[in-house]
Amino acid sequence: MATEPVVRLSAVSFAYPGGALCLRVEGMEIAPGELVACIGPSGSGKTTLVSLIAGVLIPNAGSVRTLGREVSALTDAGQRKLRREEIGMVFQEFELLEYLTAMENITLAWRLGGVTNREALRRGAIQAAQAAGIGHLLARKPRQLSQGERQRVALCRALATNPKLILCDEPTGNLDPMATSAVLDLLLAQARATGAAMLMVTHNHALLPRFDRVIDLAALGDGAGA
Ligand code: ADP
Ligand code: MG
Repeated sequence: MATEPVVRLSAVSFAYPGGALCLRVEGMEIAPGELVACIGPSGSGKTTLVSLIAGVLIPNAGSVRTLGREVSALTDAGQRKLRREEIGMVFQEFELLEYLTAMENITLAWRLGGVTNREALRRGAIQAAQAAGIGHLLARKPRQLSQGERQRVALCRALATNPKLILCDEPTGNLDPMATSAVLDLLLAQARATGAAMLMVTHNHALLPRFDRVIDLAALGDGAGA
């Protein structure tokens, strides 16, 4: 039996309310365990694409299947549960909560409800933090951490639930080259160790050789990325 792709878009079009057509994707698939980079000029729809795959945005037409679910057919609660429990998401702005410690930020999924196996999440959090070299910083609040450490907390939060799909929107955009390399090493190692697929939006072309495949959003509308 052929394995179902982790992500499959077909004939998708999306426009923000009152806006012009912003993104059209004829066909795009990500296979289980596949590590894919996404490039494209600013404003070409990279963040929009990530949001469609995560069910944050719903397409005007076409189909987005993520981890076997037709995203537009899920309820709001179902879409949130998919993001919280099955997708690891990392953004350029780390979006850490300032009043929570690093550990509390990493295990945020259980504060938001719906995580049944807290012990597994706690173990996943500690494992990810140790692999990221921040195991000794877990009691600190975000403002007591450097930029690179904060980004590693955000990565650990995305990885703690052991997701089968990791979505990253310019996760290294604010980091110096050393920190960028460390973040990418961690994400790729974690994805390979757990068999997770990854889609990473990046402007950094030096990183592209480390991925299995590169999707250029400028070419996607023609089906060239499928
Ligand atoms: P990228 O991430 O590649 O820079 P985006 O996906 O953020 O591109 O944006 C694609 C297009 O959609 C841009 O023209 C942008 O101005 C527009 N856009 C993004 N977010 C919104 C929004 N919330 N409302 C209206 N238009 C938006
Ligand atoms: Mg963007």
